Amino acid sequence: MTGSTAAITLADLPLRPELVGQEPYGAPQLDVPVCLNVNENPYGPSETVRAEIGRAAAEAATTMNRYPDREATALRTALAGYLNRGGYELTANHVWAANGSNEVMVHLLQAFAGPDRVVMAFTPTYSMYPEYARDTHSRYVAVPRRADFTIDVDEAIAQVRLERPDVIIICSPNNPTGTTTGLEDIRRICEATEGIVVADEAYQEFVRDGVPSALDLLPTCPNLVVSRTMSKAFAFAGGRLGYLAAAPAIVDACRIVRLPYHLSAVTQAVARVALEHADELLARVDDLRRERDALVTWLGEQGLQTAQTDANFVLFGRFADRHALWSGLLERGVLIREVGPEGWLRVSAGTPEEMAAFRTALLEVLPDAARLADETR
Ligand SMILES: *Cc1c(COP(=O)(O)O)cnc(C)c1O
Repeated sequence: MTGSTAAITLADLPLRPELVGQEPYGAPQLDVPVCLNVNENPYGPSETVRAEIGRAAAEAATTMNRYPDREATALRTALAGYLNRGGYELTANHVWAANGSNEVMVHLLQAFAGPDRVVMAFTPTYSMYPEYARDTHSRYVAVPRRADFTIDVDEAIAQVRLERPDVIIICSPNNPTGTTTGLEDIRRICEATEGIVVADEAYQEFVRDGVPSALDLLPTCPNLVVSRTMSKAFAFAGGRLGYLAAAPAIVDACRIVRLPYHLSAVTQAVARVALEHADELLARVDDLRRERDALVTWLGEQGLQTAQTDANFVLFGRFADRHALWSGLLERGVLIREVGPEGWLRVSAGTPEEMAAFRTALLEVLPDAARLADETR
């Protein structure tokens, strides 16, 4: 290749054909007073936790000339301990950790999907799944959910028989709809496939009372993986720590494909501090669940449709021009997410002040917003 480095564009490069014209993910990072667009926890760590994170980072710095523990054993032990609060008997061998559950999912697809292999998910769902499939050269098969966003398990099983997926991803609570999938449904899908079934439980801590975790199924479903993250309920999105629980053999498969020393010494140290303060970091989860439920009620009172939600966000609509509504809110300093099926918008549960700002802004833009015809939800 000859010419000027300054003048070269993406179109001049020998990019993989499936990447041509693609845009990087995704959600706008705008400097706005009220950010309700990426389902973060609005409550930052306390001064005590901040000080301990600083101390742990300083301690990690004393051995920064050395590579970190490749196996992250102390961290994985602490993560198992956190999950075992739910009455499970998991050890470090059942747990894998990486830089966000995004990386956990890529490890799973690197190990179990790939060329000539199939990844199946139930749409509308998390927009990153097709990207993980693309980046691991896997074929992505999207099976539509019902109109109420639940999974039709008979249809799912028919599609499993037809497509023979190597990895099936069930996002529960589902992003962007908030819908959960029942344990019996997940079990039936696990039994219908020789592939790996991943329950992405990024929002599990926010479920309504009595909604169980797929962790209950781990002892009897050897092909099941339960994926979790510290990004949402744990208020640790900036720390980048995701993890999974599964049979030790599945963890071994992830260990084969991970890059050496993928979790930095600082990440391991500060995530352990966060886990030691789990009670404090998770304390606001109940407040956020209440804000979410109040938001569902309030949106209904405004004559809007909402999807049933067990996450820290609400999908609402339906608008003839959702972009106009999204822009109107942004002009008023409130950033939400234009995502999901046509006509819907997603808003994260925030602090009471943030929710009040959202309601005020929405009431200003709502009178001008044309609705789409009601669907049965
Ligand atoms: C936010 C989210 C994640 C978490 O991603 P991290 O990489 O852990 O920050 C995973 N799955 C879904 C569906 C999400 O919405």
